[in-house]
Amino acid sequence: MFGNIKFGAKRADNILKQFSYISYCRECGYRKNGVYDKCENCNKKMQLIEKIYIGNFAEKCICDKIIEKFDYKIINVIKEEQNFPVYYDIHKICKLNHKTPKKMEFLMNKLNAKRTHFSETGIKTEESIQEILKIL
Ligand SMILES: [Zn+2]
Repeated sequence: MFGNIKFGAKRADNILKQFSYISYCRECGYRKNGVYDKCENCNKKMQLIEKIYIGNFAEKCICDKIIEKFDYKIINVIKEEQNFPVYYDIHKICKLNHKTPKKMEFLMNKLNAKRTHFSETGIKTEESIQEILKIL
């Protein structure tokens, strides 16, 4: 896509700090950055996902310039999803927790969430898994 290369050891160190293990619960879908043994939602054993980049992957001002010229919907989604933790796939969470998915717009409003370009049924929110499950 578009990129801007900046050099410097300090910048590289800062990027490396933005890689994290993700702990993931297969039972309820809860996930959290870092290494955790037990799920804080259902108390089951957490699975560990290798270190991945969890930092921002787009600059909002560059997104604005692209939107201004090309009006790509996906760029707006990418712009809005920055500064949020990893996304939850609502269909997956519903399936794991035996719930029927509600309309995305309803969930987005209730959970103060943003869409993600990674998945049509994914949302990014600061809300806890317990809150997400309550709304679902
Ligand atoms: Zn769990």
